[in-house]
Amino acid sequence: MVDLGIPQVPLTLGPRRVSRQLKLGHDDRAVLVGGGAPVSVQSMTTTVTADVNATLQQIAELTASGCQIVRVAVPSADDAEALPQIARKSQIPVIADIHFQPRYVFAAIDAGCAAVRVNPGNIKEFDDKVAEIAKAAADAQVPIRIGVNAGSLDKRLLAKHGSATPDALVESALWECSLFEEHGFQDLKISVKHHDPVVMVSAYRKLAAACDYPLHLGVTEAGPFFQGTVKSSVAFGVLLAEGIGDTIRVSLSAPPAEEAKVGIAILESLGLRQRRLEIVSCPSCGRAQVDVYKLAEEVTAGLDGLEVPLRVAVMGCVVNGPGEAREADLGVASGNGKGQIFVKGKIVKTVPESKIVETLIDEAMRLAEEAGEEGETGKPVVVTA
Ligand code: SF4
Repeated sequence: MVDLGIPQVPLTLGPRRVSRQLKLGHDDRAVLVGGGAPVSVQSMTTTVTADVNATLQQIAELTASGCQIVRVAVPSADDAEALPQIARKSQIPVIADIHFQPRYVFAAIDAGCAAVRVNPGNIKEFDDKVAEIAKAAADAQVPIRIGVNAGSLDKRLLAKHGSATPDALVESALWECSLFEEHGFQDLKISVKHHDPVVMVSAYRKLAAACDYPLHLGVTEAGPFFQGTVKSSVAFGVLLAEGIGDTIRVSLSAPPAEEAKVGIAILESLGLRQRRLEIVSCPSCGRAQVDVYKLAEEVTAGLDGLEVPLRVAVMGCVVNGPGEAREADLGVASGNGKGQIFVKGKIVKTVPESKIVETLIDEAMRLAEEAGEEGETGKPVVVTA
């Protein structure tokens, strides 16, 4: 295999929390969650689930973006009726998201969904149905996520704690788990989402210490793309660095595929997934002798979709430029209207500024091809910490 020069991602984070393992799905689409499995990325469709074609189209887009598990909302009987077709045709495991109506839990299990998410605060008479749900889920080997959300916390706990505190969220989740445990059902996954990363982190830490169920991380209602990305990255970063979290969903007021891409980037940044294309570009400053923003954007756009792990340095001057360019697989140090092109630490050519982008793209493609010829699949290599 061609060594592209990128060192294997060092496992500098703490050890992963030991959790039970769940299997979402029963065929070759199945994804393992917890128990040392790689942290997986989830998202949720925004289509009306009953619109099967639109929902499957969005799932296909999510799959293409790297999303590994998809959740679909089931607020009506029409949505429940669409589940068998969606579960059968989706390329990735489908989780049915059930609020208010316990009977849709049974419909989702019968439909072949890989898992069911229930919100204890929102399912009428949920507690009375646990025995039946546990039996149906156990018979079908369908895991259940207890998805506690600050915005829909059980009223009893809201009254007890005064607000959706970390303790209230954790108590709600563990209470519901205990109801399932009474019936011998432990294929559970938990989330305790809050819009405030500080509360969310505290809740997950408490939850992680109190049980060994796999945890689904999420900052709920995190906001539009920029704010939501920051909130989720910060909160997930803290928790994942402590080994907490088995699957993640970045919630954004943005298309679901964007959520998946952010989730993947978070895992790559933390070394929990093999990095793919990584652009090392300087912020530019008064010393810059080229338009670094434009250069970085054009190189990024030109290499979009490149799957092999490749670090490309785009640097604006000769101060840090040669050093960073030398350390990367491929790089440019710019100055005086020219760019020195580095490949694996060596200057291979000097080109005029107008040729920098195309030269970098050509060299990147050549390196990617070399890697492909040597058997590199280009698929992200997941680090199993
Ligand atoms: S590489 Fe040069 S232009 Fe870029 S930030 Fe550093 S000193 Fe400034």
